[in-house]
Amino acid sequence: TVSDGENADPRCFRQNSVSSVSQSLREWDIPYDELDRGEVIGRGRFGIVYSGNWHGHVAIKELRMDYVNDEKTLEAFKAEVSTFRKTRHENLVLFMGACMKPPRLAIVTSLCKGRTLYTHIHVQKDKFNMSKTIMIAQQISQGMGYLHARGIVHKDLKTKNIFLESGKVVITDFGLFNVTRLCHDTRRGNWLSIPPGWLCYLSPEVMRNLRVAQKQDDGLPFTTYSDVYGFGTVWYELLCGEWPHKGLPPEAIIWQVGRGMKPSLANLQASRDVKDILMACWSYRPDERPEFSTMQANLNKLPKKRLHRSPSHPIHLSRSAES
Ligand code: ATP
Repeated sequence: TVSDGENADPRCFRQNSVSSVSQSLREWDIPYDELDRGEVIGRGRFGIVYSGNWHGHVAIKELRMDYVNDEKTLEAFKAEVSTFRKTRHENLVLFMGACMKPPRLAIVTSLCKGRTLYTHIHVQKDKFNMSKTIMIAQQISQGMGYLHARGIVHKDLKTKNIFLESGKVVITDFGLFNVTRLCHDTRRGNWLSIPPGWLCYLSPEVMRNLRVAQKQDDGLPFTTYSDVYGFGTVWYELLCGEWPHKGLPPEAIIWQVGRGMKPSLANLQASRDVKDILMACWSYRPDERPEFSTMQANLNKLPKKRLHRSPSHPIHLSRSAES
């Protein structure tokens, strides 16, 4: 109950809540000068990632300043930061704070020591046995289930954003997609430039919303369901050692997936249960894709025996949404 005259004014509540958000954001603000920036680890759409030191080893993700040229993008960045501080899970990268004063905008997280699943699968061509494959998928589901329970959509779940550190999965880059403003900044004239290996993670409903002439404000319709579709692709990569739609040009992938055709399973020889998980994640209708809690139960039921990969004896199971 509100008894005193000052708080009875609803505008005061609003002001209080806005100032408490910005106050709690301030607690996560790291002055850029406090960071001891080291070597460049890599470059992405978002900016440059450095290793560094801030009370121990950290990763410093610096935003490309040509992206942050207006108040709105700065606000989007701060909104993402306020999301990160809500995440505490052993399968999610540890968010430590952010530099929030332009022109130096950066996100500081724990430094992942292992390699990404992308490097394991596509560069080193590592083959995981079935028990390890299931263990990795379970940990990804746990981290993703936690994110979704906190109301956070990853929007960019892919093997490049999943680290494996001595058997432990660490997911990175959740929620950063708005900040990258990929669809706006990669458009050149009448072309939509698509980063390699990105399309196969996009669900049909997201795929159908890719536009060449998208307005700056038009976001792609990422949801928890589209995250599950992306998980399906990660599951496929773990099982097959390659991306789905191998060899298809981008326009064919966009057309096929947008119409509800699922990738071919010609290179995957695995049990019915294993394929059912894949098909459920890749369901055309978003609400037919399982939640991560169900996924964990389904993964738990899988027999952890050896995975058979046999591209030389393919079984054709390409199915469309209509079937
Ligand atoms: P994209 O921009 O398309 O998502 P990307 O994932 O390679 O591509 P970034 O996320 O910016 O781009 O990462 C750049 C590099 O930094 C990658 O090699 C990535 O593995 C590495 N990296 C990112 N975060 C961390 C981290 N917390 N610890 C260690 N390395 C990291």
